[in-house]
Amino acid sequence: MAEELPILVAAVTDEKGRELAEAARLGRTVWVPLEREPARSGPHRLEGYTATADAPLCLLAEPLGTTSERGSALRLYPWEELRPETAPPPAPADPFVGRAIAGGRYEILSRLGEGSIGAVYSARHTGLGNMVAVKVLHVAFQRDVEFCRRFYAEALALSRLDHANLVHIYDFGQEPDGLLYLSMAFVEGATLRAMQRVERVFEVPRIVSLMLEISAGLGHAHGRGLIHRDVKPDNVMVVAKEDDDGHRVERVKVLDFGFAVPPSVSGEVAQRLAGTPVYMSPEQCLGEELDARSDVYACGVMMYELATGTVPFLACDAESIRRMHVSMPAPLVSATRPDVDPRFDALVRRALSKSRHERHPNMQELRAELKGLLTPAGAPSPSSGRGLSGSRGQDSRPSLPVPASSPTVPPPPSRPSTADWLEDRAEGFARFMDEARTTPATDALTKDPHGWLGELARERDRRAFVRRLSELDGAVRVLAQRGDAATLQRVSVVVSGLADRGRSDPAVRDALAGVARLFVDPELLGPVAERLLAPQDAQLDQGSAAAELIARAGVAGAYALYGARTRLTADQRARIAFVKTMKSLGDSASPVIRAALARLFEQATGGQHRAATELAEDLLLGVSKADEATGQLVLKFASSPVPSLCRAAARAMTRAWGERARPLLLHLVQHEDDSVLVAAVVGLREIDGVDLEAVARIGAQVAAGRVRTQQLHAVIAAALRSASASASAEAAGVLQRLGA
Ligand code: ADP
Ligand code: MG
Repeated sequence: MAEELPILVAAVTDEKGRELAEAARLGRTVWVPLEREPARSGPHRLEGYTATADAPLCLLAEPLGTTSERGSALRLYPWEELRPETAPPPAPADPFVGRAIAGGRYEILSRLGEGSIGAVYSARHTGLGNMVAVKVLHVAFQRDVEFCRRFYAEALALSRLDHANLVHIYDFGQEPDGLLYLSMAFVEGATLRAMQRVERVFEVPRIVSLMLEISAGLGHAHGRGLIHRDVKPDNVMVVAKEDDDGHRVERVKVLDFGFAVPPSVSGEVAQRLAGTPVYMSPEQCLGEELDARSDVYACGVMMYELATGTVPFLACDAESIRRMHVSMPAPLVSATRPDVDPRFDALVRRALSKSRHERHPNMQELRAELKGLLTPAGAPSPSSGRGLSGSRGQDSRPSLPVPASSPTVPPPPSRPSTADWLEDRAEGFARFMDEARTTPATDALTKDPHGWLGELARERDRRAFVRRLSELDGAVRVLAQRGDAATLQRVSVVVSGLADRGRSDPAVRDALAGVARLFVDPELLGPVAERLLAPQDAQLDQGSAAAELIARAGVAGAYALYGARTRLTADQRARIAFVKTMKSLGDSASPVIRAALARLFEQATGGQHRAATELAEDLLLGVSKADEATGQLVLKFASSPVPSLCRAAARAMTRAWGERARPLLLHLVQHEDDSVLVAAVVGLREIDGVDLEAVARIGAQVAAGRVRTQQLHAVIAAALRSASASASAEAAGVLQRLGA
């Protein structure tokens, strides 16, 4: 059937051709200059003839019925999508397929989709055998240490959402090689985008029915301080099911919550996070802080699109689309579909208001108005909500209670600082904390941790056990806020000891996993890490408990530690504790150290920022595992003009690369700074590398009269005495000269 599609022809330059292919890959809409206007709507085959390409560019195109001087608006997709009958071209080998992640917990099977943030794969939970979906973030994100730190906090908050209309997040983390991932329930369905490609426009009752579910899921997230930020048909999956009476119903799962763009994030990461402006609210286009009403606006765009087949604002570049969102009045649905229910027309217009104050203030209100549409116009307003699509069952569900603090944050100052931003983002988190503080368990646990945890372990009634765990959940947050590492450490040991209880009982398993997850949250571990670095207080056990908690948290511990180190002015003791704990994290610290070193390079080697230089030094000293990427960075620092960094790099190379550090160490023996020379000679000795070549270089320094301090004298003498057999005669000669 694909072969019979009407053909559109575009004359394009090579560059435009590439742009179109990229737009197709992302399912984007662009202006394309056509030889002849499309005669009808629906799918077409777009052929582009460029000056140099051998074969014409061939894409699937859907005209949106709008033209401008730049051509016709077409939504593009890769042509292959419509040609299942032809053998698919051999897919380029995907490096992730077949890979095991999360300590072997998931085995990646195949790629489901790809976007600007990363790719989504189907995967098998190796322990439970069930299918999950795993989102793997693009490598650009690994390099941004600030983003990675925030990733944990946001993923944790997402994993705590629990609603039938939101895809459930199970797990998240970072692999030693830096890979950031998120695992979630596998949804067997199609995206609303895929459905829209086929059906083009939807009838109002169906839109209302879908939107009731979408808004229910979003309302749940808003109530917990989380804004979606990226509501669009691509991020909504629809599952066709049969209800109890055998009627076909559509159930919705909202996925892909957007990560916020912290002001400190720039370049490729910021660009990828920024996404498409087609669904962005005016405030999002202006870079202002978002609240629930921004998601209301995006729902407005989506409703408009589902009803008319095209989005309200479309232009050939992102900047123009942003301008339109900010200042151009939104078209009415009724302008394209005069037959539409005027109440729906008004509802979409309200959701698309430029000022957020004029929109539905929250999802509950949007839902109330949507439910009103289920009754025929003119009928009394439904409090029970039966109407057009009553059989779909949406309306019979209890609506969500309005949360005590519905997220209507007043508009913030136009350009938030990093601190403001972190504060705003921490708000949802703080709300959990507030809930937690009301639990009497916190006091009991702090007063007598041993007794409280003993009672928990002895609890045999499963309901009571789950209830106690939820109390513990709250208490852990409060303890973390206080930096009470010693008590947390006890809790963590007891909770991991109870893991077996969850084997056969999902409620128990989820509750246990929920508490366990708190211990791998860098935000939550922040005060604990600060405790570790703070000047030693009277409670010695707090320091060692903090070190152990951080070490057990793996990569999250490394982020917490790094974060704490950037917040404090570190004295000598703190620096030693930092290095020691980083080293104890081994492999898990690699992504953090790598990203942080890369970020610090300019500042640290510039010699102007002492704090940055010291931090880089400590990160270098914290390196314990050898991998190629870290090695390259360490080498860069080794050739910087700052001696303390060269010295730290020499130590890092020696420890992590052993034998392979030899060329660098030989090079650094010629360094003019004494401390670097010492580190190089000590390193050579440690790797048993005092051979002929090394003796010759050390000899040259001795001959040049470089050995002026006792320390240098002692270090060089010790190295020469441990020279390899083949170099022992030469070493003896140098030793003699050294003694003289
Ligand atoms: P992004 O847009 O950042 O690439 P998404 O989370 O939107 O990531 O996922 C991209 C695509 O992967 C989706 O459009 C969908 O086709 C598929 N997908 C994502 N999550 C799931 C899931 N939980 N179950 C099944 N398919 C999924
Ligand atoms: Mg998406």
